[in-house]
Amino acid sequence: MMTDLALLTIDRARSAVEERKTTAVALAEAHYTRIEKEDGQIGAFLTLSKERALEQASRIDRIAEQGNPLPPLGGVPVGIKDVMSTRGVRTTAGSKILDKYVPLYDSTAVARMEAAGAVILGKMNCDEFAMGSSNENSGYRPVRNPRDLSRVPGGSSGGSAAAVAADMAVVTLGSDTGGSIRQPASFCGVVGLMATYGRVSRYGLIAFASSLDHIGPLAKTVKDAAIVLGTIAGRDPMDSTSADLPVPDYVAEIGKSVRGLKLGVPKEYFGDGLDGEVRHAVESAIDKLKELGCELVPVSLPHTPYAIPTYYLIATAEASSNLARYDGVRYSHRARGVKTLSEMYRRSRDEGFGAEVKRRIMLGTYALSAGYYDAYYLKAQKVRALLARDFDKAFEKVDAIVTPTSPTAAFRLGEKSNDPLAMYLADIYTVTADLAGIPGISVPCGETNQKLPIGLQILGKHFEEATMLRLAHAYEQSRIQSARV
Ligand code: GLN
Repeated sequence: MMTDLALLTIDRARSAVEERKTTAVALAEAHYTRIEKEDGQIGAFLTLSKERALEQASRIDRIAEQGNPLPPLGGVPVGIKDVMSTRGVRTTAGSKILDKYVPLYDSTAVARMEAAGAVILGKMNCDEFAMGSSNENSGYRPVRNPRDLSRVPGGSSGGSAAAVAADMAVVTLGSDTGGSIRQPASFCGVVGLMATYGRVSRYGLIAFASSLDHIGPLAKTVKDAAIVLGTIAGRDPMDSTSADLPVPDYVAEIGKSVRGLKLGVPKEYFGDGLDGEVRHAVESAIDKLKELGCELVPVSLPHTPYAIPTYYLIATAEASSNLARYDGVRYSHRARGVKTLSEMYRRSRDEGFGAEVKRRIMLGTYALSAGYYDAYYLKAQKVRALLARDFDKAFEKVDAIVTPTSPTAAFRLGEKSNDPLAMYLADIYTVTADLAGIPGISVPCGETNQKLPIGLQILGKHFEEATMLRLAHAYEQSRIQSARV
């Protein structure tokens, strides 16, 4: 029986089950034991779905017993961010307003994971409606960084990142609207991948900002992230924004050489506000890619300073509209003892939503209101187009762009929670990719003196995840090799 969960990757877990060295049931149970032991202090899970997990694990074990090959994720224990609908399993989006919501259907990404053999252990804690950068906005409890319990794991997919970092799941799904997969991945020392907008169906994802929301994996290795992307990507008739393009074999692609690839280094991502230790680690990682045969090209993304305000106008505007559906009538929480319909709406929303969600609904409603629409929302959409054009221009000269994932390593709980503007700046290097619709990945590239992980971000052209994954994989492998010598 394999007990070292830290060494488990998708292939190792799957082949151990396939070769009958362990069973999928034993693997799931070993993870639940670990969750029981560790998660009290970390807080990565909101709900465990043991019954569903063990049923699926037995199904996988039966395939293995018959000597048949397992599907790509056969028996692999995974976690799902609680913004994705799971049939029969409570789905809260980290909000009290959905405290008792049990969906009747699976989101497409979840259904595809399960069809590929994954065993869903449970639902991951996150910032309420995925709004946050530290996981302190969860309506339930904050998540703590497994590398240092006094620090945040990043957000909003903090539970998804922490669970992988603490070996409580082999991989997890998270969501990224402004950085929420890549930033927590960098804070927790794992790989976080956001594909091109439209590559992965959003059907069944509880909407925050629909033109920015993405589903993607958090994993221990680039290869695992590639396997999961290959599983969940592709056209879905249930999401009209999902792209009708063939999905490449990402695993075959990552092995190819990176020699001769051109890497853009944007000066705007290495300016004021970037922590010295982070800069050093990221610059060393970029040097490593150069040693591997990549050519470095200075590029400029001149509209970068407008990215944060643009993001917070568009994201809050879309959120205010998406969150109108929580009215106390449908879904979950309804205030008691109210006398009129409008009092019921008001009190249900007041009791159900947390402070950050309310702040965003107010900001978004304001930005969309008659008289301000042109000045704020429309203006933000125009700047969004300029930001996207910056990338288009840069990508005429380069194959990928390399930057830090976040300006700092993980900060302490409470350090920024009373200062929303400081918190918003944690995503300064990630929101641009969401606004432009391009793919991005964060790979671990070092540690601070205090042993806090640092992430290298690689951004790719639209629908060219394969090139980005190849670079991330080549870098990861060279780092593993230099750690060995
Ligand atoms: N931190 C950003 C926000 O609070 C991004 C969140 C996300 O990507 N879901 O909106």
